[in-house]
Amino acid sequence: MNVICKQCLLRDMAESDILRDIDECRSRLEADVRASDALYERRLAVCRSCERLNAGTCLLCGCYVELRAAMRKLDCPDSPSRWRGGAT
Ligand code: SF4
Repeated sequence: MNVICKQCLLRDMAESDILRDIDECRSRLEADVRASDALYERRLAVCRSCERLNAGTCLLCGCYVELRAAMRKLDCPDSPSRWRGGAT
């Protein structure tokens, strides 16, 4: 039986074709569109501790968080301040 961890990012799951596709997409983003590596990791750390993370997707917007976090101008759908280090 496969067990899905709701608090996991796609990168935490053993086999993920979706993650490979997202990584490929992220690598092709123009520099002015793509979040820096540091920003990307900070955002994913927030998602990892969020109650709305559900097996790599955000329950508020339905996005794969690893894809949403890659886009510099996108914010957390709950509150822009969450990904900017503000209050949650
Ligand atoms: S994008 Fe925001 S609401 Fe969604 S899982 Fe991440 S921190 Fe939570």
